Amino acid sequence: DLTKIGFIGLGNMGGPMARNVLDKGHNLVVYDVHQEAMEVLKEHGATVSQSPKDVAAQADHIITMLPNNACVLEAYQGENGIFKSVKKGTVLIDSSTVDPDVSKTVAAAAEAQGTVFLDAPVSGGVNAARLGQLTFLVGGPTEVFPAAQKLLFTMGVRAVHCGPVGSGQAAKICNNMLLGISMIGTAEAFNLGIRLGLDPKVMLETVNSSSGRCWSSEVYCPVPGTMDNVPSSNDYKGGFGTKLMVKDLGLAQEAATRTATPTPLGSLAHKLYRTMINTEFADKDFSSVYQYFLKQERK
Ligand code: NAD
Repeated sequence: DLTKIGFIGLGNMGGPMARNVLDKGHNLVVYDVHQEAMEVLKEHGATVSQSPKDVAAQADHIITMLPNNACVLEAYQGENGIFKSVKKGTVLIDSSTVDPDVSKTVAAAAEAQGTVFLDAPVSGGVNAARLGQLTFLVGGPTEVFPAAQKLLFTMGVRAVHCGPVGSGQAAKICNNMLLGISMIGTAEAFNLGIRLGLDPKVMLETVNSSSGRCWSSEVYCPVPGTMDNVPSSNDYKGGFGTKLMVKDLGLAQEAATRTATPTPLGSLAHKLYRTMINTEFADKDFSSVYQYFLKQERK
């Protein structure tokens, strides 16, 4: 019953996600503003289209995986957007990380057209996307969740229904705010320990068997040489870019401002990473905040 799937936004995440949908045997129609991004999928059997409007005319399920709020609004509501030709009953799923209010806006417009919209941002990076091991945080009507889940399982292994539309985004930006904060905390604690003469590996072992442990210390340590297969041991290449972290912390700050929620550490984390994106760490993994601290020190 998944007849024709549309996929819009074929970047670092969307490219491999679309590939997985295709590899599971589905008919796929794709669109990306960069022609080149579509070529790879075309070679594997996808139909290339001219615009989101063109995708919507052909598909009954559409997934979007775009960089930010503006691109999502454009793809759905723009002059050549999905809503210009979408068929009644189409299931629309946005997996981009955007403002929960953007999801609500698009969902209202979707409903007016007799379609249904869900937000389903992802947890897991480029490797999880490639391996089809993403987790989706889903917001939307309970009745359509099972059908959406079926499609999401072609790209991931978990789909958590977080609540009504916008809830997936809310969960995602809160998680990433905590991640941004805990990475900075881990980097500064390790830096202090090392300056006090502790061996980084001893520091790692003690923190991870004590109450300070967190994801950043357990599986993604920012100090080079403490772990294999993490960005810190590969010159901070790959992983989750500092710029993307700045975007997500910005979304959290906007939501916090709107709701008058005190998020002092989220705000400080945003400020710190925002400063970093004017340095050589802009395109590095966000755990390079550790190196950023080292650079602040008196030589
Ligand atoms: P990306 O920049 O690599 O890819 C975005 C793609 O969208 C590009 O190919 C671009 O050409 C295309 N695009 C832009 N505007 C468009 C439009 N109007 N119509 C059609 N195509 C358009 O970004 P990414 O890393 O794939 O991330 C996508 C989303 O997923 C972002 O919201 C990001 O925050 C989120 N995310 C990323 C990661 C990660 O590790 N990269 C992890 C989790 C979530």
